[in-house]
Amino acid sequence: MARLKVFKRKKIEGIDDSVYLSLREERRISRNNNRIIKRFEREKARKNVPEKEYLTVMRDPGNVVEFEDLHTYFFTDVGTVKAVNGVSFDVPQGKIVGVVGESGCGKSVTSLSLMQLVQAPTGQIVAGSIRYKASDGKVYEITQMPKDQMLKIRGKEIAMIFQEPMTSLNPVFKVGEQLDEVLLVHEEVKSDAEAKKRSIDMLKLVGIADCEKIYGNYPHELSGGMRQRVMIAMALSCNPRLVIADEPTTALDVTIQAQILELLREIKDKYEGSIMFITHDLGVIAEMADYVVVMYAGRIVEQGTVREIFHHPKHPYTIGLMKSKPGGETVGDRLYSIRGQVPNPINMPDHCYFCNRCDQAMPICHELYPGMTHFNEHHATACFLFGDEILQEEEVMESIR
Ligand code: SF4
Repeated sequence: MARLKVFKRKKIEGIDDSVYLSLREERRISRNNNRIIKRFEREKARKNVPEKEYLTVMRDPGNVVEFEDLHTYFFTDVGTVKAVNGVSFDVPQGKIVGVVGESGCGKSVTSLSLMQLVQAPTGQIVAGSIRYKASDGKVYEITQMPKDQMLKIRGKEIAMIFQEPMTSLNPVFKVGEQLDEVLLVHEEVKSDAEAKKRSIDMLKLVGIADCEKIYGNYPHELSGGMRQRVMIAMALSCNPRLVIADEPTTALDVTIQAQILELLREIKDKYEGSIMFITHDLGVIAEMADYVVVMYAGRIVEQGTVREIFHHPKHPYTIGLMKSKPGGETVGDRLYSIRGQVPNPINMPDHCYFCNRCDQAMPICHELYPGMTHFNEHHATACFLFGDEILQEEEVMESIR
């Protein structure tokens, strides 16, 4: 397999070398990126790939999705952004898994990797495994699936609700046309009349009154809450086994937010589906999720059941997130904020990513990256305060090469 080259930058006094590159360096990075990107794109574009090449088995048959050591990188002209850097967690059947973390921590890229929707050609899944158990009982290795085969899963088996419905709905088509298209493309219905009937039923299901009229409206004629309901109707129209809700309530006001969350919960129970709920809002996670995954700078720093994460958080970052939640103990208290900033994603350190912001950092934290310490079957954290397991970045890189 081809090797990923690591370029060492020259140190220039007084200049942040993670930002400035010589033209020569940029060209070398770009050439190397092109070579890597072409290899991955060739793999994805293969046609008539025998099914056995991307069939696999689940580690636990009770899961609908298993991420294992997933690495999704963006090959930019200024360096490689390790947006998802060794993420492993499961989404059990019929459960809600909340993925939480601040902007840029890799939550959305993890879900886009599952849909094979990472922005190519710069974005590529470079290593790891995503196993998906389909409704026909087959288990697919998503990272190995060719593009044409992904069409069978995307939209029909796994659906996604995006954060901002105004940018996700097409402004030049009526809501009804967009709903019908989903059903017709995935061959859920045979005729336009049947598609219209199903679309109107879906609008009814998501609590839209006067469905017939809304069916004929353009997205800009609807309120934010209605548009998000339409997005939910669209996502659920093919009865998917898994719904990825990527910050579905962030653009909505609080009352509408509560209604949408309630609706998602009701629909999940009705169809016994699973939800991967991505948000930076801990309040929403506490209300919705069964399991929580806390991500920081492309890695999981803590995971566990919602009770464990909220009542017994271990990692200093999770504790910081809990403290920075609005609604503290005393009225008038200043809101807590975690000091410092996330490290530059192009130049990630080879030690704990959180150590420049952590009040409990120890000498070892500035030298090595901690591995996962498991407290029980579900609860685990990556912090030297709870164990001395070390994650060898070099070993991970070696497996990619
Ligand atoms: Fe803080 Fe060290 Fe734990 Fe990192 S490993 S979170 S620096 S205590």
